[in-house]
Amino acid sequence: MAKDRVCGMQVDKKSPAGVSEYKGETYYFCSPGCKKEFDRNPQKYLQNEDKK
Ligand SMILES: [Zn+2]
Repeated sequence: MAKDRVCGMQVDKKSPAGVSEYKGETYYFCSPGCKKEFDRNPQKYLQNEDKK
C-alpha cells in the first residue's frame, strides 16, 4: 500500500486510480482528481511528508 499525498488515503499500488512521478519518486493516488491536484503543485504536498 502507498499513501495518497493529497488526501492521506491508503492506495493499493497494484490498482491505483492515478500515478505520478516526481523527482524520481513514484506517487500513487486514490482518484484522478488527487493526481491532478498533486501534479499541479507537488511541492505543496511533499512538504507534508514525515521527515525520514
Ligand atoms: Zn486521494
